Amino acid sequence: MASGSAKFHVVVSGNNSVIPFTQQFDLDEAITMPENPQSRQQEVTRLVSDMPTVSYATGSCSVCMESFWQSEEAARQVPCGHVYHHNCITDWLLNGDSNSCPLCRHEISG
Ligand SMILES: [Zn+2]
Ligand SMILES: [Zn+2]
Repeated sequence: MASGSAKFHVVVSGNNSVIPFTQQFDLDEAITMPENPQSRQQEVTRLVSDMPTVSYATGSCSVCMESFWQSEEAARQVPCGHVYHHNCITDWLLNGDSNSCPLCRHEISG
């Protein structure tokens, strides 16, 4: 038995139905972020950092209802005089579409 002489002629025809694998990156789907979250975040960060810090705030934060003395978190005073935790007023402003005091709706402008 002769060995090593077997040849396979594999004809690859150009008409093989090769399924074209096109990777479709749907740009519309990739860019699904809200219009300008970055600038809104920056605005709020700037607004809150402009508020005076209250070292020994009394009473409680109207956003989280926790007494200031129970929290290590910095208290910030908004222009109308109300005081909130730094993170509480930041979240409040980020979640709202206007810059207003949670209690009296006084406009907080930078
Ligand atoms: Zn709070
Ligand atoms: Zn207020």
